[in-house]
Amino acid sequence: MDRNQELFARAQQSIPGGVNSPVRAFKAVGGTPAFIEKAQGAYLWDANGQRYIDYIGSWGPMILGHGHPEVLAAVERAAREGLSFGAPTEREIELAEEILKLVPSMEMVRLVNSGTEASMSAIRLARGATGRKKIVKFEGCYHGHADALLVKAGSGLATFGHATSAGVPEEVVQDTLVLEYNNPAQLEEAFARHGSEIACVIMEPIAGNMNFVRASIPFMRAARQLCSQSGALLIIDEVMTGFRVALGGAQSLYAQAIAGFAPDLTVLGKVIGGGMPLAAFGGPRHVMEQLAPQGPVYQAGTLSGNPVATACGLATLRLIQAPEFHARLAERTRQLVEGLRQAAADAGITLSVDSEGGLFGFFLLPELPQNYAEVMRSDSARFNQLFHGLLRRGVYLAPALYEAGFVSAAHTEQDIAATIAAARDAFADMA
Ligand code: PLP
Repeated sequence: MDRNQELFARAQQSIPGGVNSPVRAFKAVGGTPAFIEKAQGAYLWDANGQRYIDYIGSWGPMILGHGHPEVLAAVERAAREGLSFGAPTEREIELAEEILKLVPSMEMVRLVNSGTEASMSAIRLARGATGRKKIVKFEGCYHGHADALLVKAGSGLATFGHATSAGVPEEVVQDTLVLEYNNPAQLEEAFARHGSEIACVIMEPIAGNMNFVRASIPFMRAARQLCSQSGALLIIDEVMTGFRVALGGAQSLYAQAIAGFAPDLTVLGKVIGGGMPLAAFGGPRHVMEQLAPQGPVYQAGTLSGNPVATACGLATLRLIQAPEFHARLAERTRQLVEGLRQAAADAGITLSVDSEGGLFGFFLLPELPQNYAEVMRSDSARFNQLFHGLLRRGVYLAPALYEAGFVSAAHTEQDIAATIAAARDAFADMA
């Protein structure tokens, strides 16, 4: 009896599609999702008792691996003190101070519960602070499922978005301008036409929602300059990259390449909560003080700054500041992607790979794509073959070709070697 199949059939009776977030359903790759029973370190176990080496890490939060004893102890202590107060706590200040220390472009931060909430609130704040309506987002970047951001590219410059979800009225997205990622000329033209109406530009600095596409230096530089010249705010969505690609996030890497680089607002999630529902957005004091109760931009949350989530996030952020933490994580991740590239090459398969810190991507393409259209040239049927080849061999990758991979500090050299060995067999099946 396959318990995963049994549970999936049962789940579909009570939960739409059997899942509480669509990509978990394995719809893109086909087959039955693994129903997870427990996790420890770098491993997950499903309902059949099958063990997997986990490269999803709950889609990013589990940078320390699963069940880190110090994180669990902090959560347990906090839970005993109280699950939720709906009142301010000292621990929220400690977490805010820790975040501001690690991300110096932020002078103030507000805690929320999900990346969606954080980016939605950052956009509202940008509109409130500038008194402007239009927002710029890039094709292939995901910032959560808030209405105004659920827009697919209507590619071409003055094309405003068409909602990609039923239930989002045209009027809600008519001020969302969708542009091509890594196309500074197009961004410049958009500012030439609409500059005085643009409240903000929001972007993933490394687009993990296109698998792994880096914003080029000229593109990031153009975004910064155009926003500064026109009075728009640059919002860097570091929900996926924050504390993962480097301790200071992707913005710390761009600051090394572009003198004086800093975003106006930063959106954080995933690692910041260490596996509990916690996210944040922040920026300069004069902008953040536009938020209620001080300012006119309303934003609130019953569970925001929840004491247990805050304890989990705080313990996680402290542990990742250990000396050499990110250097080691980056090295392990590089070993993985280089091993995968070599294993593919030995089987006569072209694989392009990239990684930064504990985030990685690979494409069954000769070169790394630079934008969404190029990502979509990947052969999804072959990706699905690879995905299932690895899953059968106990390696758990994201079940879609446009999702990044995540390595944790719990992955050992042996785990990486076992993954590469599994990949060799999977590639041999595909060759
Ligand atoms: N922003 C980015 C870059 C993300 O990757 C995600 C989720 O994957 C979000 C925002 C939305 O976060 P959440 O799923 O916590 O709402």
